[in-house]
This record gives sequence, structure tokens and C-alpha cells, in this order.
Amino acid sequence: MQILRVRHGLDHPNACPFCDQDPETSNHLFVGCSLTRQIWFELLYGWDCEDWMPGHDDALIDWWSDRPAAGKDRKSLVTSVTLILWSIWKHRNKVVFDKEPPCLSKLLLSLREEGELLTNYCCSGATTCSCWTQG
Ligand SMILES: [Zn+2]
Repeated sequence: MQILRVRHGLDHPNACPFCDQDPETSNHLFVGCSLTRQIWFELLYGWDCEDWMPGHDDALIDWWSDRPAAGKDRKSLVTSVTLILWSIWKHRNKVVFDKEPPCLSKLLLSLREEGELLTNYCCSGATTCSCWTQG
């Protein structure tokens, strides 16, 4: 991400904006960061899929590709994971550009609200999407 920051003339530290302990890489931000790992844990636990918890050093693309869901469940998983990544990215940008403090509960609330909107919009009646209303 350093290259993108330099290319776009953005100036902020190389450290992860959530934990300030590791370099900000896409894998750290989306999988390895302590805040992000709490998000994954909360959501996967709510979906009764705790065994899907990515390892601290897992590459996001490998972890995502290895999930066992197929068919309609696969589509729901892809949609859900995309929403999670998008929400993490939006929260990261609020922390970096709006100087908001990283906040697990705000991120979880935002995720659940957007998940409910998504469920109401495109998945009404689908049991695979009801996970967003849990917790
Ligand atoms: Zn971090």
C-alpha cells in the first residue's frame, strides 16, 4: 500500500491505522490485524462457522478460495465476505482521512446495518443471509 500512497501523494504512516503495530498490508488489514480478527471472529461465530477463522498469516485470497460453500451458499458467502472487506476498508478510510479512532463496535454496527439492508434488498426469505441480524 506504500506504493499507492506515494503515487497519490498521500501522507500517513506505514503502520496499520487500526493497531499501529504492524505494517499496513492488505493481508494484515483484512485478515491479520487484531481489530479485524475480532470482526471475523464475531461474524463467523454468529454464523456457526468458527472453524473458518482465518489464520493470522493466511493470505486472504487463499483463505477465501478454500471455503467449502458451493452453489447458492457460495454466492451468499462471496457477497458476505465482500461486504465485510468493504466495511473494513471504509472504516480504515474514516480512521486515516477523518481521524476517527478505530472502533470495533462501530465497525460491527455498520456491518450489521449494511448486512440487513443487503438482506432486505436481495435475499428476503433466504436463510443463508439471516446471519446479519444475529448478535
Ligand atoms: Zn493492525
